[in-house]
Amino acid sequence: MIFNQTDFDTYFKHYPTKDGFYGNYGGAYVNDQLKKAMDEIADAYFTICKSSRFIDELRKIRRDFQGRPTPITYLEKLSKRIGKVQLYAKREDLNHTGAHKINHCMGEALLAKYMGKKKIIAETGAGQHGVAIATAAAYFGLECEVYMGAVDIKKQAPNVARMKILGAKVIEVTEGEQTLKEAVDAAFKAYSQEYENAIYCIGSVVGPHPFPMMVRDFQSVVGIEAREQFTSLTGELPDAVVACVGGGSNAMGIFSGFLNYPVDLYGVEPLGKGLSFGNHAASLNYGQEGIMHGFNSIMLKDENGNPAPVYSVASGLDYPSSGPEHAFLRDLGRVKYDVIGDDETINAFFALSKLEGIIPAIESAHAVAYAVQLAKKLNTGSILINLSGRGDKDMDFIIEKYGIPEKITL
Ligand SMILES: *Cc1c(COP(=O)(O)O)cnc(C)c1O
Repeated sequence: MIFNQTDFDTYFKHYPTKDGFYGNYGGAYVNDQLKKAMDEIADAYFTICKSSRFIDELRKIRRDFQGRPTPITYLEKLSKRIGKVQLYAKREDLNHTGAHKINHCMGEALLAKYMGKKKIIAETGAGQHGVAIATAAAYFGLECEVYMGAVDIKKQAPNVARMKILGAKVIEVTEGEQTLKEAVDAAFKAYSQEYENAIYCIGSVVGPHPFPMMVRDFQSVVGIEAREQFTSLTGELPDAVVACVGGGSNAMGIFSGFLNYPVDLYGVEPLGKGLSFGNHAASLNYGQEGIMHGFNSIMLKDENGNPAPVYSVASGLDYPSSGPEHAFLRDLGRVKYDVIGDDETINAFFALSKLEGIIPAIESAHAVAYAVQLAKKLNTGSILINLSGRGDKDMDFIIEKYGIPEKITL
């Protein structure tokens, strides 16, 4: 167990620092204009989001609109199939819109409303964040502009349609590779020109301060609920908690409920097709310190020090960096970051679907696959998996690429 209670009793008081640092990681590496906008959001966060009015309203929204609390499900058939370890899933797939992202989007949009902003500006890669933020904007009656690379727009037609139906404007970005990185740059640029009227809403625990902290805090509902539910269900804490890590928001959410408890925490990064350059997105495992998108963290670099091309079978995990707090928790040794590849992930995807009647998002299937491996190794105890989302969005891709396997492989 990599854990010393006294080190973590005061963790949330100390991290991040006032300037948004977790050790060397984090910060706000943006131009003066954007810095001013970020400072405004940080100030608003500390006053508004800590008020009982805000907290009460968010609580009500989570209950009456999102469908929280989400349950914990005991994965009985999967557990029996593997051996003696008991596997459980925190069901973030049962959120409205089908994933955990709505947790921070509703928080960010509620903050926008309290700040008197009229418009939300965001970027999206695969479109999952775009759909969640468009949903939040519709709920609060805010204008919404989502920047999206031209390549992604072509690939993710159903999510583009969803955003438009929800009333958002999808703005095509045609610079560079025409994917997420360029979409972030374009969203930042648009935001710096109208931050008085608009608020920028990021999709994970990444970006300049205060976003990694804010998104973590909005997601922490997952971990707080999970700890209470798990202990009342089983009478004890889980031995391990496993979550997939792209930018790292679902992982930070569930980890925050367990950071100062004696529970082993595992963050799972996508190894994709393997270790060679461009074939994975396991930044915390194989990256180096570096700044991108306004924050310092661990990232995968090419030979010129720029963000490397990345790949994962799960489009929500193919980001060349991860949240600064993950980099910090890695260095502290509090969370173990490990990898799982495409093949094991797809096997776990079909296993969970067929054995338990739960079709997971391919992102979440990474956590399931890793938990299966861990269970075989531990041979005793319990593992709680954060099931970050449901797989409806992945159906066409799965059927086209893999078909239906004859039998379950684990
Ligand atoms: C976006 C997404 C992820 C990855 O994002 P994190 O910020 O790392 O949580 C994981 N699972 C699902 C279902 C997603 O939509």
